[in-house]
Amino acid sequence: MNKFFNKRRKSNCIYVGNIPIGGDYPISVQSMTNTNTIDVEQTVNQINTLSLNGADIIRISIPNMDAAESFKKIRSNTKNIPLVADVHFDYRIALKVAEYGVDCIRINPGNIGNIRRIKMLVDCAKYYNIPIRIGVNSGSLEKELRDKYNKIVSAKVLFESVMRQVSIFDKLNFNYFKVSVKSSDVLTTIQAYKLIAKSIDQPLHIGVTEAGTTRIGITKSAIGIGSLLMMGIGDTIRVSLTANPVEEVKVAFDILRSLHLRYRGINFITCPTCARQEFDVINTTNNLEKKLQDVIKPINISIIGCVVNGLGEALRSDIGVVGGKENSSLYINGIRQANKIKNNNIVNYLEFIVRNKTNTYTK
Ligand code: SF4
Repeated sequence: MNKFFNKRRKSNCIYVGNIPIGGDYPISVQSMTNTNTIDVEQTVNQINTLSLNGADIIRISIPNMDAAESFKKIRSNTKNIPLVADVHFDYRIALKVAEYGVDCIRINPGNIGNIRRIKMLVDCAKYYNIPIRIGVNSGSLEKELRDKYNKIVSAKVLFESVMRQVSIFDKLNFNYFKVSVKSSDVLTTIQAYKLIAKSIDQPLHIGVTEAGTTRIGITKSAIGIGSLLMMGIGDTIRVSLTANPVEEVKVAFDILRSLHLRYRGINFITCPTCARQEFDVINTTNNLEKKLQDVIKPINISIIGCVVNGLGEALRSDIGVVGGKENSSLYINGIRQANKIKNNNIVNYLEFIVRNKTNTYTK
């Protein structure tokens, strides 16, 4: 951990499938399917796609018993991918998916019902040795708390909601759980996690809920998740976007990479462009990003439009391009290559160089 970070908060470790969460383990990345769970084929395809894009853990909504039956088939087609079931209101759904091999159950405090039902859920989690996630969310707070605080959902209210559930788990002698306490407001989210971080020993799943469409959702998530991670808070993350969930996974890795916590795929260092650019940097970078989506090996590529900032970036990149008239200079591992790249062939040439360096030749 570098000098910009607080020491990571010490937490217990739980396992969702084979993925450890908490302790000193790497920050894991989660996402959630948005297919209809009844549609087994589509859901399995989306789970596989998310997994290929790096998701460590994938959550599925199980709104009813039909979906629970579909989950059985989904499970048998995604054996090695850690799956979390999102269950609300009906504890029997949770019992069913546990029987069918789910790796974790997510519940909202208050909506499973009375203590007898929660006990059955906890007994089930103990029996199958799976963790539960207490997932508090500003949009689905218990009515009692909404009424008590006049519908004002502050960090303290979210914290109170979590602690009610935690105290029930304590009474039931159950500590194999993780917690999330998300608001759609970034500052409330941060404050709520700060409160919970010093009150329990369990790992924390962090994120900003209902963060919005891609542009604003990325911004809120980067600030919320990024700030918390720098405070040493957070063991697993989910970026919540109103978009294809694959984007959530990519953004999550971008956040982790920006904080030097985990590396996956290409880190593009590109200039904003100006009148000095010697080739079309924006199109070149966008095309390359699309073509090289499958590359998962971490690699730094600088693509800079002119010599003003190009040389400095190229010298510390794995691959660097410095824009020049008609031909641009190419650097590999900081060393200038004898051959220049023709400006009208930068995309193809760079794709070849990157694939060569990362052993990712397409068939
Ligand atoms: S690196 Fe060159 S082309 Fe890019 S923004 Fe700076 S001055 Fe402009």
